[in-house]
Amino acid sequence: MGVLKVINPATGEHLEDIEETSLQEVDAYYSRAREAFKKWSQLSIDERLRYLKNLKHTILEQMDELVQTIVQDNGKVPTEALIADVMPSLDGIDYVVKYAKRELSPKKVNTPLLLIGKKSYIEYMPRGVVLIISPWNYPFQLSIVPMISALAGGNTVILKPSEVTPYVGKYIEKLFQKAGFPEHVVQFAHGGKEVGAAFTNGNPDYIFFTGSVRTGRIIQKVAAEKLIPTTLELGGKDPFIVFADANLERAAKGAVWAAFTNTGQVCMSAERVYVEKTVYEKFLQLVKEETENLVLGTARDSDVGSMTYPVQKEIVKKQVLDALQHGAKLETGIHPDEWDDSMFVRPMILSNVKHEMDICREEFFGPVMPIVPFETEEEVIKFANDSKYGLNSSVWSSDLQKARRVASQLITGAVNINEVAVSVANHHLPFGGVKESGIGRYHGSAGLTIFCHEKAIVVDSGKLKTEIQWYPYKGKYEDFLELFQSYFSPRRNWIRFVRCFLRLLRK
Ligand code: ADP
Repeated sequence: MGVLKVINPATGEHLEDIEETSLQEVDAYYSRAREAFKKWSQLSIDERLRYLKNLKHTILEQMDELVQTIVQDNGKVPTEALIADVMPSLDGIDYVVKYAKRELSPKKVNTPLLLIGKKSYIEYMPRGVVLIISPWNYPFQLSIVPMISALAGGNTVILKPSEVTPYVGKYIEKLFQKAGFPEHVVQFAHGGKEVGAAFTNGNPDYIFFTGSVRTGRIIQKVAAEKLIPTTLELGGKDPFIVFADANLERAAKGAVWAAFTNTGQVCMSAERVYVEKTVYEKFLQLVKEETENLVLGTARDSDVGSMTYPVQKEIVKKQVLDALQHGAKLETGIHPDEWDDSMFVRPMILSNVKHEMDICREEFFGPVMPIVPFETEEEVIKFANDSKYGLNSSVWSSDLQKARRVASQLITGAVNINEVAVSVANHHLPFGGVKESGIGRYHGSAGLTIFCHEKAIVVDSGKLKTEIQWYPYKGKYEDFLELFQSYFSPRRNWIRFVRCFLRLLRK
């Protein structure tokens, strides 16, 4: 059995070794999860939510330690660990605690007149064992929110945290233990892609995956073969559109934050900034000044942390070098040829960028902001939608009518107007992407119901001897013809309808 080395990317310090889950253990994990499901799924929602409240309490008790763990494992600054990893998880628990009962209780629906005498409702039945595979950029939030949503519905969960941030994965395991969840309701599979693949192949009842498009495709293929339902939360190449009439100071601050928060390792970051030509130079100056003031480090007051994953740093290096070779100009930041070995990368702004360049097309996960001028509303909508991704977008204008008009035409799962990425922080809104950014939604109502079979139930009192549509059909065709003609005609003929219905009942 191998171990996962926990290395602090900001300091290079080796913190701990975490034992990998053996591939031989996969079947045992699923058997235990299915056994635990029998009791967990039978608890009332209120009883299950009590465990989520305990989890929230445990997180609150050790919030500072949790932040330090995320910082040490991921290299992000403490403020971002707190506001973007821990807070959304607590808020997610609050949402689930408040709304799970409403969303997952049976819902009465109308029954059409043709099914007279019956009642209909929808019931939500847990699917079984949910496999959640999470990434390293927001290792806490992107594990916790799907976990609690699946658990509230009555499912048991196996979490496979990212091997790049195993320290957080192990910490989540300890949090659930401390919160006192019943045995095997939540299990943890630590390890790399082989472990992820083995658990994907182990017949879960649902797979919730957050990560790269490449892995998403692999998982979806396995799931397709076995007809396992999935949610895939994948990458993004989010456009950030600044019109000349925007509050430029705010837009520039927003762009710098959106491009460099989490050291740019965000699927919802500003990955291509389009600025109306007339204010391009001014905007460029504003973002340059703002960027040059950023403080690198992982101290409490630092702004930009280290990158997390050495492989990712090399990818960003290649992408920036390619852009520079194709004519982009490095306005601020350090030329990749002069980078040192540390995982800290000074945020870079690129001008002289064309929309057709790879830097505007391929997702990069790093602190880079390419800026492209545009001339008209039509042109920028075309640029924004000309992408294989469609996760999030951002529109900046003081003309809210125009901003809304543009927002409605953007092919993305979310649009933030005079804001950026903040839609993900509202648990009442659905979250997810279109095109290669993913399949499905979570957060909001969908975040709870995806983990359940939506079951349609019709109830008849059972008093009548027969139904009109049952056998024998002898002599019924003409009556049905007349029944449907009277029922569906624009001016429904009630007398004919009732007469036909009674005739059919007697046959
Ligand atoms: P990222 O680099 O954004 O974390 P990845 O797609 O590489 O994206 O990884 C996301 C998660 O998917 C990680 O937990 C990783 O271990 C897991 N993973 C990688 N490859 C596979 C695979 N073939 N099957 C299942 N899980 C995988």
